[in-house]
Amino acid sequence: MGLMEKIFALLEHGPGEHWGVHPDDRKRPAADAPVRILPLPERLHVPLQQHIGAAARPIVLVGQKVLKGQLLAEAQGVTSANIHASTSGTITAIGEITAPHPSGLPCAAITITADGEDRWIETEPAVDPFSLAPKDIAARIAAAGVVGLGGATFPSALKLGLGLRAKIHTLILNGGECEPYLSCDDRLMRDFAAEIVDGVRIMLHATGAQKAQIGIEDNKPEAIAAMTTAARKYAEITVCPVPARYPMGSEKHLFSALTGQEVPADGRTTDLGALVHNVGTAWAVHEALRNNRPLVERIVTVNGSAIAFPGNIRVPVGALVEDVLAYASLKEEPARLVMGGPMMGSLLPHTRVPVVKGSSGILALTAAEAAAYDPGPCIRCSSCVRACPVGLLPLEMSARIATSDLNGAVDLGLKDCIACGCCSFVCPSHIPLVHYFNHAKGELAAQGRTQLRNEAAKRLAVARAERIERDTREKAEAAARRKAERMAQKAAEAAAAAAAGNTTASEVTT
Ligand code: SF4
Ligand code: SF4
Repeated sequence: MGLMEKIFALLEHGPGEHWGVHPDDRKRPAADAPVRILPLPERLHVPLQQHIGAAARPIVLVGQKVLKGQLLAEAQGVTSANIHASTSGTITAIGEITAPHPSGLPCAAITITADGEDRWIETEPAVDPFSLAPKDIAARIAAAGVVGLGGATFPSALKLGLGLRAKIHTLILNGGECEPYLSCDDRLMRDFAAEIVDGVRIMLHATGAQKAQIGIEDNKPEAIAAMTTAARKYAEITVCPVPARYPMGSEKHLFSALTGQEVPADGRTTDLGALVHNVGTAWAVHEALRNNRPLVERIVTVNGSAIAFPGNIRVPVGALVEDVLAYASLKEEPARLVMGGPMMGSLLPHTRVPVVKGSSGILALTAAEAAAYDPGPCIRCSSCVRACPVGLLPLEMSARIATSDLNGAVDLGLKDCIACGCCSFVCPSHIPLVHYFNHAKGELAAQGRTQLRNEAAKRLAVARAERIERDTREKAEAAARRKAERMAQKAAEAAAAAAAGNTTASEVTT
């Protein structure tokens, strides 16, 4: 069968049962090692932007002493998030550090030189979250700087508010963690199952949903067992094993696996009455409401064949990748460093990059592992088409993008691409297809912003011209009015004078 026939066959039958890929998960032995705690680094570099919205605004000064959990920077807008001190010490710089992004561009960060005491700020005793109104729970979650820990880093309070407004009936907890190498959610579910279930109950109260389903891939039997035990007392919470298949961790695919319903390409799960949160977020909600603890640390998977002791490590936000790698020990110089998973993560330019709230993993890959990602020419095998969970034509879209035909790529469904990386993963030529799509979406967003700016400038210019025309017209009308008034007044005066003259003449005659 030729390539086009294969494509037409797929278009006819859709991705159906065959969406996604089954990558070698490479999660063990890291997933089975007990969580270790990173020794406190001498300095922490806490970025001001660890969420999708605007960077937070610093409220501390260089030289100021801070305690762990103290607010360092305030959220700027609804999609922004508060940033807190991840240890006690002194603010020694407010400057820049390399962002955890392949661009290697700098981002603003606050540097804390640790005093070694790691002393928490004192807080009021926590109140019973079930005595609070949903909006007060959301306010506490926002104050604690909680963002989605599955990678999207969307402010959790805002998302809970959306769920409340959409009158959702089901809360879905994403324990899919389908990216190879990563096991931080798996460890969290094994070790903190009761805390996650408590966070889920608080989120149910905050959203008004009647039930929660916790979806966990069936390659994590220990996590399924721990969560099932922790949720046993609560009839409204169900633990649901789902097949291990990438990208099961995508919201829409997990939703479909749990409910049997499809979310339309341009729709959301809330349109169908369900809100999806990561299990790590439920743990952070528990910490914020029960212990008054803001989000200042997380579990990070450190994995890859260049790591001597792979596993999961509890890391304060702002610790450098080099601190984490030094603790996990390298057995050889990594050929490639990735923050996140190999499918959707970011290549790191070097190791002086801070861990942030959304850092699920640090991968140190050997040359052999990295070679799996070195690109060659397209052999037109159509594997990417078969793997795409959305039923797109990745090779055709990337060909359009390569010739700067973005509209052509949009016509082929670029905007429906969920950037899961399945196509890149299965491509035998290791073509970074998903990077093409992310780049093109960035270009389209930039074009959209430019268009909005141009339209706004045009609207302002039209409004200015109309205002000038209106002012000129009003001035002319006012001048004409004044002239008419003057003339009327003169006429009245003349008439009055004439009347007075006539009176005098008649008096003389008389
Ligand atoms: S990255 Fe986009 S095009 Fe590629 S498989 Fe995923 S959804 Fe399909
Ligand atoms: S882009 Fe890769 S997977 Fe798709 S047809 Fe070409 S070689 Fe095959």
